[in-house]
Amino acid sequence: MSGSPAKTPVIALEEHYWDKELVSHLTGAEGSRSPDMLERLYDLGAIRLREMDEAGIDIQFLSHGAPSGQKLAEDVAAGLVQRVNDRLAAAVSQNPSRLLGFAALPTIVPEAAADELERCVTQHKFKGAMVHGLTNGLFLDDKRFWPIFARAEKLDVPIYLHPSFPDPRVVEVYYKDYVQAYPQVIRAAWGYTVEAATQAIRLVLSGVFKEYPKLKFILGHMGETLPFLLWRIDQALSRPGQESLSFRQTFCEHFWITTSGNFSTPALICSMQEVGVDHIMFAVDWPFVANPPAMKWMNELQISQADKNKIFGENARKLFRL
Ligand code: MN
Repeated sequence: MSGSPAKTPVIALEEHYWDKELVSHLTGAEGSRSPDMLERLYDLGAIRLREMDEAGIDIQFLSHGAPSGQKLAEDVAAGLVQRVNDRLAAAVSQNPSRLLGFAALPTIVPEAAADELERCVTQHKFKGAMVHGLTNGLFLDDKRFWPIFARAEKLDVPIYLHPSFPDPRVVEVYYKDYVQAYPQVIRAAWGYTVEAATQAIRLVLSGVFKEYPKLKFILGHMGETLPFLLWRIDQALSRPGQESLSFRQTFCEHFWITTSGNFSTPALICSMQEVGVDHIMFAVDWPFVANPPAMKWMNELQISQADKNKIFGENARKLFRL
């Protein structure tokens, strides 16, 4: 074989860090993490790059960990999030060929959040934004947040819908019997999934894509169960007595999904069949999830090299115009 094609860069899309000032506003955040984890979350250079090199990851898209800017008080949110994004931009500019940024947004002040998205995309060359769960008890489909979507569409950048903790009322009714013995039940094991999937379903129902037909979202964790449930959701929402809607068509057109923290081959094959390989992108969820198991899984997958290249980096190159 001669003239082997240039290797597709491996791009990991949901890789987190923490900002000390932002974390100082989040009660108990540091106490819940091990020293090793904190060292990685606060590292924007040496450790991160070494672990990327060891695993074979070329580029990380950096985003603040949950709940990022979504639980800040209205009077401090805009100024604080600007400083957070400026510090991320400074870190990314130290390694521009390896690190890219997703903006944090002060969603509690939606107009300021829209302006901050524009500032980050035009001045810092960030590739979109990441939003984590509810803002002040409200899902993002609430019309108050639509100025953010208008701006995202105008800038042609996607918004990554990251999970966060369920609303306290949900924890009380759904999970409190088991949360002591199994703290992960409200987190990665189930609670996060329900919050993020509900967010996505509500956005489709809200009609936001009629208003902003080029708006794009990304969901992690292999689509937060929605590829598996797509047939049933679509069928049920097509039954008589409801407004006309093609859930399948809207979801598959406006949503991309990533592999963050969900390295299940059956889940991937289902997603390839339901949403299509062109909307699936690679992610790890570092440092909450280690890089090597993600890379081992992807490298050993029994799918075509062409599809693997799309997931590893080509789909991201296209979506983000890299
Ligand atoms: Mn994550």
